[in-house]
Amino acid sequence: MPRKKTDMSKIKTITLGCRFNFYETEIAKSIVEKLAPTHDVIIINTCAVTQEAERQSRQAVRKALRDNPEAKVIVTGCSTVTSGKYFSELDGITVISNSKKSDPKSYVNIAEGIVPSISNNEEIVEDSDEMFANRVRAFLPIQNGCEHFCTYCIVPYTRGKSQSLPLDVILRRINHFISIGFNEVVLSGIDITSYRYDDLTLADIITQIISETSLERLRISSLDPAGIDKKLFDIMTNEARVMPHFHLSIQSGDNDVLKDMRRRHNRDDVIRLCNNILNKRPDVVFGSDFIAGFPTETEDMFENTLKLVDEAHLSLLHVFPFSPRTGTVASTMIQLPSQIIHGRAKILREKAQQTKEKLFQSLVHKQITGVIEKSENETSFGKTDSFVPFKMPGNLLPRTIINGTVTDFSDESVYLNYPV
Ligand code: SF4
Repeated sequence: MPRKKTDMSKIKTITLGCRFNFYETEIAKSIVEKLAPTHDVIIINTCAVTQEAERQSRQAVRKALRDNPEAKVIVTGCSTVTSGKYFSELDGITVISNSKKSDPKSYVNIAEGIVPSISNNEEIVEDSDEMFANRVRAFLPIQNGCEHFCTYCIVPYTRGKSQSLPLDVILRRINHFISIGFNEVVLSGIDITSYRYDDLTLADIITQIISETSLERLRISSLDPAGIDKKLFDIMTNEARVMPHFHLSIQSGDNDVLKDMRRRHNRDDVIRLCNNILNKRPDVVFGSDFIAGFPTETEDMFENTLKLVDEAHLSLLHVFPFSPRTGTVASTMIQLPSQIIHGRAKILREKAQQTKEKLFQSLVHKQITGVIEKSENETSFGKTDSFVPFKMPGNLLPRTIINGTVTDFSDESVYLNYPV
């Protein structure tokens, strides 16, 4: 039965941090909408991944309180764990524990005018999916939390132990996405290779999605190289409906730094993995995260990172200057001077620009498939299967799948002609 929607203008959301948080904010908003609050509500989903993110989170809460004295301000997210004391001393906010932010029961006492029929979390999540209907890809978190305690990372403290979504729920949500017109779904997780439910692994889940649904295009979010087992490797290299772009969380190309970070891979593991994947599937494009200026990183160790980028054929790099996060082991180490950290980040970003342009150059005259994301002024923009940004003439609708030939490139994207 269709449900009555409440006045959306009464509920405002502010999200800081990762895509996961954005998804969870949509769920929280959907829950509060159903409570039909009689007053304005502001939901702030905070982040604590860096000290700066935490500062911005606190600032967003103070500003919301100042600017909206009549509204109910709900605060949740990772900062409520790391800044618990700070928020507990702020008047006028309701804190919802980070682990309970998607649970409707957490919100029941918050709004007046409660609609008492809220009991089905599943239903709420699917409503929330519809809010993503104007987007190109549907985003499906299947795993949350992390138990690895890398020495620079606060996430295991803020999101807790790994939890995974059951297979039947995943299949139902994918079928729901297909039914509302999506042809591409991104499976995501904080530490997605740790997915376990009833002894099923990430590889088992992908196998089931491929065999049990008609989903045309599946993407996998950031992968921990140490979590890629033989079965997952075979899927990544053999399954055409799994898109040929893999983002690997590598962080450094030096074995000593990787050890000090408490990562579970070494540089040879990464080089072997990437080359083995490319041997089987040459159109794969690798993205990767790197931290520049980890406390124990010397110039030579940093050089090893630059060399690894070439040896592993990495193209789309995300570079983060190291920033110590209170509560982590790395924050207690002797820090490098800021100019060294930022100098190395700059060098790595220049490297990133070179590898990107080298990738674009290698695609010229090749035929590619991609999806349109938006169009304006007779130009359409999108991403190829391997997640390379492209633009082409014409006003095509988002989610249109196109084939084209790469004719040229700029420093930001490749150009396509169309149709082939
Ligand atoms: S694997 Fe390491 S970096 Fe990733 S979330 Fe877990 S602790 Fe953080």
